[in-house]
Order: sequence, then structure tokens, then C-alpha cells
Amino acid sequence: RAKAQGKDNYQFYSAQMDVHSSAQLALESGLRQALARDELLLYYQPKVDLASRRIVGVEALLRWRHPEQGLLPPSCFIPLAEETGLIVPMTVWVLDSACAQAARWRAAGLPPLRVAVNLSPRQFNDRHLLDDILAAAERSAIDPGLIEIEITESMVMHDADRAATTLRALKAAGMRVAIDDFGTGYSSLAHLKRFPIDVLKIDRAFVKDLPDSEAESAIARAIITMGRGLGLTIVAEGVETAAQIDFLRTHGCDEAQGFYFGHPMEPSQLESLLAQPPRVAP
Ligand code: C2E
Ligand code: MG
Ligand code: MG
Ligand code: MG
Repeated sequence: RAKAQGKDNYQFYSAQMDVHSSAQLALESGLRQALARDELLLYYQPKVDLASRRIVGVEALLRWRHPEQGLLPPSCFIPLAEETGLIVPMTVWVLDSACAQAARWRAAGLPPLRVAVNLSPRQFNDRHLLDDILAAAERSAIDPGLIEIEITESMVMHDADRAATTLRALKAAGMRVAIDDFGTGYSSLAHLKRFPIDVLKIDRAFVKDLPDSEAESAIARAIITMGRGLGLTIVAEGVETAAQIDFLRTHGCDEAQGFYFGHPMEPSQLESLLAQPPRVAP
């Protein structure tokens, strides 16, 4: 279409595209080297049990310490990692690193912490994924019961049979499975009950305006009630205020994760947080 508008326009557009693709290429070659150069790191965000106010688990969240651009969040590089297939070795690194951290915390005598790792939608149908997860758990020698795998609704819905087989194998190995960002996809709890799931994470979209928004309150209550009815642990994502926590606890939500209890942080910071008394009720 640009070509039809004349030569000058065509050159303009192609110049733009070159700029775009050379930035993309630079990022891609950087990402290829990130693993070898040890530039990836994991931050850990606490998950807090709302009854005891204790940290019962953490979610491992990937960061890339880019040599020029500084610390990059996953939104800057996970899509590219998925497109290029780099997501596969990256996920192996994430699994190894998170399991090794969990093992170090156990060895240091800390109470057992569940460690959750995120998977990408694109890789859930990868035939080697299951072997990669099982191998990482074995290398670290930690109790597989401490490993939680976070997947999204779209991942299980895309190829439901394959997903069910993979999830059953993870369960058989003793791991826990969480549905991340629940409520934003196209599945229903009725569908999900076919899958061996342990945890439902209510997406931040339904937590953000609690307790003031009547619609969000109704949705959050419904997810909690149905999820608990199915015997699942319910975790609220993106909790930032005492009022949200009050609402969630009153309506039977088990755990919460969000800036209120702590941002994603380095392992040493998490250790300091664990040493402090629980943050008390509002
Ligand atoms: P997620 O799994 O839903 O992770 C929660 C995201 O919400 C994290 O963003 C976290 O920093 C942010 N968050 C936590 N509490 C709050 C809060 O109170 N308020 C607000 N506004 N945000 C909060 P992050 O670390 O940028 O990660 C974004 C997404 O990237 C994750 O969403 C996950 O889907 C993906 N991701 C992270 N690490 C990995 C990984 O190792 N592998 C893969 N495949 N995906 C990952
Ligand atoms: Mg997650
Ligand atoms: Mg989430
Ligand atoms: Mg979310």
C-alpha cells in the first residue's frame, strides 16, 4: 500500500521499518547472549496467607539486567523470547534458578516456601516441557510439593487434552498447579474442573477497585465461592490496600499477593521480610 502512494512514501516507510527491525535485531541478539552472560535474574514476590498473615509462598518473576538499558521487565522481552524460541532455554534457566533458590532457603533453615514459576502460553504444547520441569525439580532435590506451576486459562483451553495429560503428570510428580490471571480468559470453572488444578489466582482486574465497585465485588465473591466449592486455594493478585485485604479475607479468599505485602524483590530482601513479624491487620 505504501508503494502505491509513490516512491518517496515507500522509502519513508521502509526506513521506518529498518529502524524498527534493527532495534528488534539488537534486542534479539542481546537476548541470545543474556543467558550465557548471566544477565537474567529472578525477583520474588511474597504470597501471604490472609488468616495467619504469614508468607507461605513466593512467585518467581523474571528480569533481564540489560547491559545498556538496565533492568527490563518481562513485557519487554518475553514476547520476543516466544517468537524466537528462546523461551525454552530461558524457562529451563528459570526453573533451575527458582528450584535452587528454594533449596538454599530450606538449607538455611527457613520455613518451607512454595515457589511458583510462570510458563508461557506458547510453550505449554512443547513436548519437552514436562521433562524440563521434572528434570529441574530433580536437580535441585527439593520437595516437588514446594513447586507451583502458574499457567493461564488460554494455555489449558488451547489444547485441552494435551494440557490435561501434562497437568496430570505434574500432579503425579507432586507439584502444584495454579491458574494465573483467572477471569480474563475464556474458560469457566465448569471447564476447569476437568483439570487437576490446586490454585486459582484472581486477576488484578477484579481486585483493583475492591471494595467500592459493586460489579468487581460481585465477580470476586463469585470466583472465591465457586473456587472454594471446587476445593481450590484462592489467591488474589495485585493487592495494594488494606481495604482490599479486608474485603478478600471476609469473603473467604485464602491468600493475597501484591504491593501491599511487597513488590517483587531480591532473595536477600525477601529473607529480611521473612525475619520481620507479620504485617498486622488494618
Ligand atoms: P503475572 O504472573 O500475573 O505476575 C504478576 C505481575 O503483576 C508481575 O509483573 C508483578 O510485578 C505485578 N504485580 C504484583 N503485585 C502488584 C500490585 O500490587 N499492583 C500492580 N499494579 N502490579 C503488581 P511482572 O513481574 O512485570 O510480570 C509480568 C508478567 O510476565 C507476569 O504476570 C507473567 O505472566 C510474565 N512472567 C514473569 N516472569 C516470567 C517467567 O519467568 N516466564 C514467563 N513465561 N513469564 C513470566
Ligand atoms: Mg504469575
Ligand atoms: Mg498473574
Ligand atoms: Mg495478572
